[in-house]
Amino acid sequence: MLRHVPHTRACVQAAIDTVKSARSFGPGTSLVEKHYRIAGNPAGLNRIEEMYSLMLKVLDRPDFYCTLDTTDEGEGISTVAFARLGGFFLADAAGKIKFRRGAWVASGIEDFAAFVFIHEMRHFVEGSSDIGHHAKGWVTDESMLRLRPDQTVFNCDTFAGFALEARNGEMQRPGWVKGTAFR
Ligand SMILES: [Zn+2]
Repeated sequence: MLRHVPHTRACVQAAIDTVKSARSFGPGTSLVEKHYRIAGNPAGLNRIEEMYSLMLKVLDRPDFYCTLDTTDEGEGISTVAFARLGGFFLADAAGKIKFRRGAWVASGIEDFAAFVFIHEMRHFVEGSSDIGHHAKGWVTDESMLRLRPDQTVFNCDTFAGFALEARNGEMQRPGWVKGTAFR
C-alpha cells in the first residue's frame, strides 16, 4: 500500500487544487458540486480543504501513521483496513491506519489503493465524532446521490471518489468499488 503513497498524494493534492479553484471561480460546473453539492458554501469548502490538507501530513509520514493489523484486532471490522476516528491527533501508537489481508488486492490497483487510503485517512484526521459512513460506493450510486450536503462533507467515500476524479478526470464507475467492504 505504501508504494501508492505518491499516487494517493497526487489525488489529495488535486482535490485541494480543485477546491481552491472552485473558491475562485464559483461552484457552477465544478467537480466539487458533483461530489459534495454544497453550492459553494465557504464553510464547506474550508472543511473539505482542511481535511485534505491534514491527509497530506499523514502521507508525509506513512511509515509512522500506517501499520499492519498484526494482532487481528480488526477481524470483526474489515478485511481490508480500518482506522481510529481522529487517530491522527492521538499520541504515537494510540492511533494508526491499519491494513489487513484484503489490502493486498487494493495494493495491485493504484486507484483502488488511493481510494482505500483516502477513505481511511478521512476517519483518521477527523476532529469531530462523525464516523463518515453516511453512504458507501461511487458518486453516481443511488445511496451516494441521496446524501445531503451536511453529510457529503463528512462522508469517507465522497472524499475518496472526489480526489480520484480531481486527479484522473471524470471516471467510469470502477469495478472494484462494488462489493468493497472496508471500514
Ligand atoms: Zn470507513
